[in-house]
Amino acid sequence: MSREHIPASVQRAVLVEAGHRCAIPTCRSTTTEIAHIVPWAETQDNSFENLIALCPNCHTRFDQKKDIDRLSVRKYKQNLGILNNRYGECERRLFSILAKNGERIFVLGPGGDVLVANAVQDGFFEDKQVKGMSFDITSSDGFSKQFPMTFTYWVTDAGMAFIKHYMEGSDLN
Ligand SMILES: [Zn+2]
Repeated sequence: MSREHIPASVQRAVLVEAGHRCAIPTCRSTTTEIAHIVPWAETQDNSFENLIALCPNCHTRFDQKKDIDRLSVRKYKQNLGILNNRYGECERRLFSILAKNGERIFVLGPGGDVLVANAVQDGFFEDKQVKGMSFDITSSDGFSKQFPMTFTYWVTDAGMAFIKHYMEGSDLN
């Protein structure tokens, strides 16, 4: 059975979509294979939409053991698309980390406000303006301004719900 004629560009797009990690949010292993959502034997569909990056372990759980069902894998794929369009790498990593450690507060360094701007705008993280470290700049003509060096965020209830849905593979909208 020659299933291995997935164009290199499609393989690359599938791996990039998942950040070269297993697409199962609770796994995210760095060893990846390309899996067919609808099996090759059924439809011979090598399109981007029918492919997803999975680690060998999750691939077996999906294809052979049927521990992970097709509907869930479709959801994970759909959610990756939503996440990639709406959030940056830092935000996506934070969602995974927060899901694992269950923390409700985290601190970011300089520029942190830019890195989580979309998640803040969507109401998932809240900046409560905690006074932390800061630095001052003063120009020769006397202009001075203070910039924060740390940003402290609370994960809101909406943020917790979003992260939970993402990890479960349920609808993100
Ligand atoms: Zn996996």
